Amino acid sequence: MVANVYSSNQNRSAASKLSLVIPVYQEGSHIRSSIGVIEKVLIDNNITHEFILIDDGSKDNTWDEIKKLAENNQYVTSLRLSRNFGKESALCAGLEYADGDIVLVMDADLQHPPQVIPEMVKAWLEEGYDVVEGIKSSRGKEKSLYKLCAKFFYYIIYKTSDINLGKASDFKLMDRKVIEAWKEMPERAIFFRGMTAWLGFDRKQISFDVAERVNGKTKWSFFHLVRLAMNAITSYTSVPLHCITVLGIIMFFGAILLSIQTLYMKLAGKATSGFTTVILLQLIIGSSIMISLGMIGIYLTKIYKEVKSRPRYLISKCIKGRGNLSPNRDSIFEGNKNLPQNRTTF
Ligand code: UDP
Ligand code: MG
Repeated sequence: MVANVYSSNQNRSAASKLSLVIPVYQEGSHIRSSIGVIEKVLIDNNITHEFILIDDGSKDNTWDEIKKLAENNQYVTSLRLSRNFGKESALCAGLEYADGDIVLVMDADLQHPPQVIPEMVKAWLEEGYDVVEGIKSSRGKEKSLYKLCAKFFYYIIYKTSDINLGKASDFKLMDRKVIEAWKEMPERAIFFRGMTAWLGFDRKQISFDVAERVNGKTKWSFFHLVRLAMNAITSYTSVPLHCITVLGIIMFFGAILLSIQTLYMKLAGKATSGFTTVILLQLIIGSSIMISLGMIGIYLTKIYKEVKSRPRYLISKCIKGRGNLSPNRDSIFEGNKNLPQNRTTF
C-alpha cells in the first residue's frame, strides 16, 4: 500500500458496523440508563453497533456499572484506564479499540442527543461523507464567564490557524479510513477536535441543540479549561512563537528611533536626566523578554513531553462482551509487543 493512502474496510452498506466510543468519568449514577437510551435509538433504526466504554479512572461506581453492562451485553466492551488521563486520552483508547466500519464519538451524559445518530449514519451511507460532525446550534446551559472564555479561546484558534472550531463539538462520526489516518498522528498531547479538523476528508455538518446534562455535573473546572486551552493552542499552532519575533522587530525599530532621538538631544546639548525613559524602557523590554521566554518554555515543555514518548494512556482492565479478555499478568510484556505504539495494557 502506498504510504498515507487510506481506504474504508468495505463497501458502505446498511449492515456496516457502528462503534460508539464513549469516555466515561464519574457518571456511575446514570451511565446504564444513558447507554440504554442510546441503544434503543440504534435498535429502533436497525443500526449494527458495538459500544466501547472507557472509564477514565473514575472514583465512583462507574467501573462497576460499565463492567455489568459488558458482562450482560455482548455488544459492549468496557475499558478501565489506570488513572484519570483526561477525556482526550480516554477517547484515544476507545478509537484504538473500535473496529467498526464507522466510529461515533459521543459524551456519556446525553448532551449529544442520540436521536441525531440515524441522520449521521445516513449522511455517511447515502451521501458518501467520511466525517459527519455535530455542530452546536446552541451551547446549552453554561455560565456566562465560561461562554466568554470559550469564545475568546476559539477566536485565538481561528485567528491563528484559520479553522473555526467555535461551534464544533466532539460529537463526530468518522469512517474507518479517517480513524486509520488519526492513528498515524503520533503526538502525545492530544486535542481531538483540532486534530480531527486537521485531518480533512469529506465532511458534513449536522447541527444539534446541546441537551442538558442528564445527571451529575461537568468535569471541567476553570483550571482544567485553561490547561486544555493552552494545550490546544500550542498543539495546534506555532503563531505565538512568531509573535515573539514580530514583537522583537517592532521593538528594534522603536529602539532605533529612540537612539536617534537620544543622540540628537545629546549633540544638541538638550539632554535631560532621562530617568523616566530609562525606567519605562526597562519595564517594557523586561516584561517582553519574560513573556517571550515563557512562551518558548511552553513549547519546550511540549517537546520534552513528546520526546519522552510515554504512552498516551494505560489500560488496567478490559472486559469484552461476556468474557474477560484482560491479558494474564505473566504475558504482559509479550502482549505489549503486538499492541499499537500508543496502547499499553496491564
Ligand atoms: N470525561 C472524561 N474524563 C475527564 C472528564 C470528562 O472521560 O477527565 C468525559 C465525561 O464522562 C463525559 C465527557 O467526557 O462523557 C464530557 O464531559 P463533561 O460532560 O464533564 O463536559 P462538558 O459537557 O461539560 O463539556
Ligand atoms: Mg457534558
